[in-house]
Amino acid sequence: MNVLVTGGCGYIGSHAALRLLEDGHAVTVVDDLTRGHKQVIEILKPLGDVRFVQDDLGRGDPIAHVMRQRSIDLVMHFGALAYVGESVEQPLRYYRKNTASSLGLLEAMEEAGVSKIVFSSTCATYGKPPKRYVPIPESCPQKPINPYGRSKLMVEQMLLDHAHAKKQRDETFACTMLRYFNVAGSDRKGRIGEDHDPETHLIPIALEVALGQRPHITIFGTDYDTEDGTCIRDYVHVEDLIDAHIEAMQQLDANELHTFNVGIGRGYSVREVIDAAATVTGKKIKVIEGDRRPGDPPTLFNNPKRINSELGWEAKIADLETIIDSAWQWRKQNPHGYG
Ligand code: UDP
Repeated sequence: MNVLVTGGCGYIGSHAALRLLEDGHAVTVVDDLTRGHKQVIEILKPLGDVRFVQDDLGRGDPIAHVMRQRSIDLVMHFGALAYVGESVEQPLRYYRKNTASSLGLLEAMEEAGVSKIVFSSTCATYGKPPKRYVPIPESCPQKPINPYGRSKLMVEQMLLDHAHAKKQRDETFACTMLRYFNVAGSDRKGRIGEDHDPETHLIPIALEVALGQRPHITIFGTDYDTEDGTCIRDYVHVEDLIDAHIEAMQQLDANELHTFNVGIGRGYSVREVIDAAATVTGKKIKVIEGDRRPGDPPTLFNNPKRINSELGWEAKIADLETIIDSAWQWRKQNPHGYG
């Protein structure tokens, strides 16, 4: 297939582009390089037919032109900003980059006659689910508690409205929305990895402490109503996450509309993650117990029933140490990320 990958120079998008190329698909990466790394393209080039376009998705016309030129069959839409804290401080930036840009992308698809999309959504659209909804099913009410979650939920709603209108007109439109839990790890062949600036995520920060690049890691809150008092999250390996995209792409038929949570279905506490990082790296990871981070729900993990039964997807890597080890191998080789 000819696949357009938005945000293909970012962490998750680059793993998708790599896998698509390995599977023999032609890939067109659109990335404005706000957060992405151009070096990724050089790594991808020997793997197959990849074209890079540096542009902003909000500019519909040039993107439609690229779609026509490359005869795009399907869009995988990763391009977005994804820091909760930043979204609180700069909400307009999030509504521009995540919501308005997605509108531009949909308009471009419409103009170019591209009718299939796999959209990266997030469990942040659920906000703080009531206890009876944990593990979280797709039917959990969506009540995001920050602009990041809202900026993504608006795209989900836009996609639903658009799909509905297309159906009314007997026109084709098919969409799978994947709501990610905590994505972690990297390509187990060590070719690409996770490199954010600034880095705010738990596992990369723990690895930076192991590398001696930070003096310590702060645990944000040790008084939660969980077994060890720290927050619990569902960490899904990025390669498993990409498997879900490939399945979604292959199974997406005309006029279908699907929503799946993507998470392994079990949670690990912040302390468990840090302990596992110490075991994997063989380094002492100094911990400081700090205050809660505003907006952090205590426990989030997936109920994978729907994705297991309907998409036939199951996480192959459910072991925290294997997930962390893949991230560690890349970071050890690339201590300053892409540099
Ligand atoms: N966390 C932490 N210290 C850090 C970074 C994260 O204690 O330096 C906690 C955070 O409060 C959350 C969990 O680790 O409970 C996962 O956070 P991350 O930012 O990786 O992902 P999020 O769940 O916010 O998407």
